[in-house]
Amino acid sequence: MMNSNRAEEREYMVKTQIQARGVRNESVLHAMNKVPRHLFVPEESAREAYQDYPLSIGNGQTISQPYIVALMTELLDPQSGDLILEIGSGSGYQAAILAACKARVITIERIREVAARAEQNLKQAGVTGVTVLTGDGTTGYPENAPYDRVLITAATPRIPPPLVDQLAEGGYLVAPEGDRDIQQLVRLKKNRDEISIERFGTVRFVPLLGRYGWNKDEEN
Ligand code: SAH
Repeated sequence: MMNSNRAEEREYMVKTQIQARGVRNESVLHAMNKVPRHLFVPEESAREAYQDYPLSIGNGQTISQPYIVALMTELLDPQSGDLILEIGSGSGYQAAILAACKARVITIERIREVAARAEQNLKQAGVTGVTVLTGDGTTGYPENAPYDRVLITAATPRIPPPLVDQLAEGGYLVAPEGDRDIQQLVRLKKNRDEISIERFGTVRFVPLLGRYGWNKDEEN
């Protein structure tokens, strides 16, 4: 295992897990190469930070597999200066990747403790341009709408309507949509109030709990 040099580990991760699976977006590859993922996982997992799987981050939550982060970011296709709303801050890593793509990010996390840790991770990694909020992200954050991009990083039974309302004209929304065990990655595009939806591969995310997500009582 290469665990002496994080930059080398990252380079190896990008080559073997991300480029090898077809991610080509330069800005995404650059971001994945740059953001110190080991600062977004619990200390005891730091040496596994660049491995090809998700990791537990406490409170029953996970940081996604690196490839899934890269794939979702490529589908989202963030542009420099975009205002992006992320639902499900988790570790803060995905938000850091979006910031490294030169976007401004508002990220919402429902568990206060998790949000506080995300904020701390982002600070430690020297990431700027990300605002972490605590609350139910399924209702979005109308105060700063419209958003050029919306990214949901938890499994949702349907795309929460408020998030579509808060999406800018020409905007993209990416989310894992489906049932609680398995979902499909979907990309919604909004054009002159016309909505189109594309579907991509199968993914597994922890549930989005809230008003337009899953019921808290169904939590297993
Ligand atoms: N993007 C994260 C991983 C997300 S894990 C990362 O880069 O590490 C999914 C997160 O969504 C969990 O932290 C969970 O607490 C949060 N979550 C679930 N339902 C939510 C809701 N309604 N609003 C905001 N966050 C929610």
